[in-house]
Amino acid sequence: MKKDYYEVLGVSKDASQADIKKAYRRLALKYHPDKSDHPEAEEKFKEISEAYAVLSDDEKRQQYDRFGHAGIDSQYSYQDIFRGADFSDIFRDLGFDFGFSDIFQQFFGGMGRQGGQRRRRGSDILYRMTISLEEAYFGGEKDVSLVRKERCPRCQGSGKTEESTVATCPACQGTGQARKSQRTPFGHFTQITVCPDCKGEGQHIHNPCTACRGSGVVERQRTITVTIPPGVDSGLRLRLPGEGEAGERGAPSGDMFVEVYVEEDPRFRREGSTLYATRHISFPQAALGSRVEVETLNGTEEVRIPPGTQSGDTFTLKGKGMPRLRSGGQGNLVVEVKVDVPRKLSARERELVEQLAREMDVDTRESLGAKLFGRGK
Ligand SMILES: [Zn+2]
Ligand SMILES: [Zn+2]
Repeated sequence: MKKDYYEVLGVSKDASQADIKKAYRRLALKYHPDKSDHPEAEEKFKEISEAYAVLSDDEKRQQYDRFGHAGIDSQYSYQDIFRGADFSDIFRDLGFDFGFSDIFQQFFGGMGRQGGQRRRRGSDILYRMTISLEEAYFGGEKDVSLVRKERCPRCQGSGKTEESTVATCPACQGTGQARKSQRTPFGHFTQITVCPDCKGEGQHIHNPCTACRGSGVVERQRTITVTIPPGVDSGLRLRLPGEGEAGERGAPSGDMFVEVYVEEDPRFRREGSTLYATRHISFPQAALGSRVEVETLNGTEEVRIPPGTQSGDTFTLKGKGMPRLRSGGQGNLVVEVKVDVPRKLSARERELVEQLAREMDVDTRESLGAKLFGRGK
């Protein structure tokens, strides 16, 4: 199992951003692959850097605090975990010549260096899904239907057919790149950007595919099966890699994110993995004790009500709450007892209750007036 990010950095769960930065700085100095001869320096360095990337980003940290590794891994690709994290000043302060991007390029293969990419990947899709508390409890598969851009079947995404003619882009001579040289105080730099004429394609297509007008993508209605992990809670985003919109002209597809919303259930109140329910019992059951059935999300359970149970007393059914997404296992179901007073009594019941009242020596006359001016005058 993956280690807890807080443990990896050796900080507490409520550590401030300054604490987290300080902890990472200390460990980065120890495990930096260029400085350390620790046998697992590279692995360690990756591990602490991942923990830092998540915990230094408020949104990612919140996601991690609520859902654990599942919350991060389901929502971000490995590279996305690092995207946006600010390592630069830490490395500068540590006095490394090697910047963050150089090291990480070595580790993760070209991360952060996206220049020269000719085709833009398709857009991500965000889908909001509402599920019942029962569905959140059991997890499982759910089909969603949506319209998305998919690879054009006529031209296989290329945008051209036999009728098309292709001409090399005269502006970039087919490279798809525009180069601009610049002299700066730090030396001579060549800036490479996407050719604005052909948008990086390197060619112009005449008589493009008629099905997609040369874009290589068409809209399609699709049904996608989403796997819901047991114990899911509102706000969790599930990532479905490659299920987003197809990129134009054969570029890779984006991802699909399913944001889950768990509906309220009239029978249960949920707090994390703990469920709360109310069970009504009668006065005799409370006074004399009883065994009652209690509804759970997975069948019924028998609960012993001891004699003398009060309204508001609670009983905890261990492991009958929601599955825990983060640490495994299941939370508890807390059942609060409400003792009902009968709204109507039969003549016989009334007689018995009056008898009880006399036995307990309690005054049951209805109005204060009756007490002051009723009998005895
Ligand atoms: Zn086409
Ligand atoms: Zn061009």
